Amino acid sequence: MKVASAFRSAIGFITFLALNSTVQADNFIVDSKQSYLDALASAVPGDDIILKNGTYQDFEIKFQAQGSEEAPITLRAESKGGVILSGQSNLSIAGSHLVVSGLVFKDGYSPSGSVISYRTSKDELANYTRVTEVVIEDYSKPDKFENDYWVALYGKHNRLDHSYLAGKRNRGVTVAVRLNTADSIENYHQIDNNYFGYRPELGSNGGETLRIGTSHYSLENSFTRVENNVFDRCNGEVEIISVKSGGNVLDGNTFIESRGTLTLRHGNGNTITNNVFLGNGVQNTGGVRIINANQEVANNVFKELTGYRFGSGFTVMNGVPNSPQNRYHQVRNANIHHNTFIDVSHIQLAAGADEERSAPPVDSIFSNNLVVANDVPTSFSFFDDISGIKFTNNAANYSVESQIEKGFTKRSDLINTSSNSISINGMQVGADSSVKALNKEDVGPNWYKKKVYVTPFSSGNEVSVEPGVNTLFEAVAKAQDGDVLVLNDGVYSEEKIIEINKTLSFKGSAVGKVTIQPQRSALFEISDNGSLQIEEVTLAGTDAPDAAGNTFIRTKKWGMLTNYRFVMTNVKVTDLDINHSYHFFSAGARSFAALLSITNSQFDTISGHVLALNKEKDDLGIYNVEVLNLENNTFNDVSGALALVYRGGTDESTFGPKVTIEKNVLTNVGLGKRNKRKASIFLHGVQKTQIRNNVFNASTPVKIEHTVGEPQTSYSGNKFNDTSDINIIDYLKVKDECRCPE
Ligand code: CA
Repeated sequence: MKVASAFRSAIGFITFLALNSTVQADNFIVDSKQSYLDALASAVPGDDIILKNGTYQDFEIKFQAQGSEEAPITLRAESKGGVILSGQSNLSIAGSHLVVSGLVFKDGYSPSGSVISYRTSKDELANYTRVTEVVIEDYSKPDKFENDYWVALYGKHNRLDHSYLAGKRNRGVTVAVRLNTADSIENYHQIDNNYFGYRPELGSNGGETLRIGTSHYSLENSFTRVENNVFDRCNGEVEIISVKSGGNVLDGNTFIESRGTLTLRHGNGNTITNNVFLGNGVQNTGGVRIINANQEVANNVFKELTGYRFGSGFTVMNGVPNSPQNRYHQVRNANIHHNTFIDVSHIQLAAGADEERSAPPVDSIFSNNLVVANDVPTSFSFFDDISGIKFTNNAANYSVESQIEKGFTKRSDLINTSSNSISINGMQVGADSSVKALNKEDVGPNWYKKKVYVTPFSSGNEVSVEPGVNTLFEAVAKAQDGDVLVLNDGVYSEEKIIEINKTLSFKGSAVGKVTIQPQRSALFEISDNGSLQIEEVTLAGTDAPDAAGNTFIRTKKWGMLTNYRFVMTNVKVTDLDINHSYHFFSAGARSFAALLSITNSQFDTISGHVLALNKEKDDLGIYNVEVLNLENNTFNDVSGALALVYRGGTDESTFGPKVTIEKNVLTNVGLGKRNKRKASIFLHGVQKTQIRNNVFNASTPVKIEHTVGEPQTSYSGNKFNDTSDINIIDYLKVKDECRCPE
């Protein structure tokens, strides 16, 4: 074991000699756990502990020391990015006047509740401590529903800056500011210049990127500043940022195509200024949602946001009279001014009004805001009395709704929005021209390359594959992410289950010319990092083992960490009936399809379900598919259901599932005795459903259960021959219990 080597740092020595002749700065270069501990034991204010470049496995760094304001103690990488902490590593910090810099966490996950914690135990917290230029990438716990924080701030006067956090896939807030003891409230933390990268849909509550406080301590002030950060596709759940405390400032941040909103969920007196929200027309992109008292939202730019309801470009909520702490406090004294809204689809006021949330906003102002609808109409919606919001000195380039038109000047000449604002009678309407979006390159450590996350289908090479035995298996083993396997005409007989752990496409020349016949209980198993596209082939179950419960395509049976896509078009699926319950596609528990789409395909003779997306039985708001599209297909003689989709739980933290079923013909679907739901299509807890222009012949009915949120179900143009009509059960009207984003 190498012992800590210490030597005088000339620069440090001179620097601190000038400040305090008794302080000498040492550099300790360490390359092992033991040498780190030895260095830490010797470190005094002004010293640097330098981790020698290299990869450290399973290194739980406890950095507990006392620096001073003039001479902090620093823990840093020998060169920025040169130190990789992998396996089950983490960092906990306690003491004061400490600096950590240049570390990279990847290829593993924290064994504890956080990757970086500003405390080493419940009672030992960090104060006046800075973590800067740190990377945490894909450092997710393998069990997606095992909770952790990537960064947990405790104590006071701490800073997290110029860091990079991307690819969190397990449950738990990416960065949490904790106010759980008196030593952590009124903390004056600063979170600035960080890059918050891709956070995929979690498919449940608990996917916030930043949370400040919790409902329990929400009447306390946090005084945290969140400045100049970029939030890039932070799609974990409906709340990108959940503010649950008072006195915070969120200023100058940029949100890029992030599906959710900055939500002022609990706590009073927060300030949201100079931020830019860029939706680029992406689904479910939102802006700010206001709850509670004394919130100021000013000088922000909201652009091309499509979100609706609680995920709108801008939302002011209704509250609960005498609300319990964890519910919705009435909006009072909200000051919403000098914001610019460009092509924002929805602005919703008194949103969420219902029997419980019956207190509309009061004493509030909406003034000097500019609303421009150039390419997309903006609709204001009012769900209750909005006389408590005074509209004044606003402008729009169209005729706004009559309830608020007195507070608007109509200006049909508002085309140029590059300056954010216009002048009316010498008064500025809209945000300052100084409010500009940050670039991704402007934030995070400048030495770390930002990762591209979703590989598009067909973005790689075309690889020709000959028919035969196991030729697909062999081709898949060699293929690269994004490749297309071009299948020459003939029969492909597969003796092995083919694991799909990259983005791959399989393309034949035509149905009937290329046939794939698995000899195992499954052909494809989609596992982590896998996505699958299939076109122009026949999939036949004729050679499958004579056993119940085969599945043509499935995901890993339990515990997928990454979201996947499955897209199939112009495919014939036939003879899945060698035994009972031969399913076409079956999702494993804790698997999540970001997109599952089947178009222009034909299914004949299936003894099980076509799509079993119902493996989350625990009613925790977890589900298996975000977007399901079925269009222009035929389904003949299916004993099970065409689709089973189950989203249990009563929280309103997710946008999906969203289901579109259009122009399909179903004949003799769902009548098998093992189809327990007695439905051809069963949708439980789906948030958006469209069923249009389908033909149902001699099939079991469509059953839809409304259980959570504000489900939008529409259906039209369907023909029901010898089939009962769509059956919708609205449980929301039956029961009244807590359903709210937490
Ligand atoms: Ca939440």
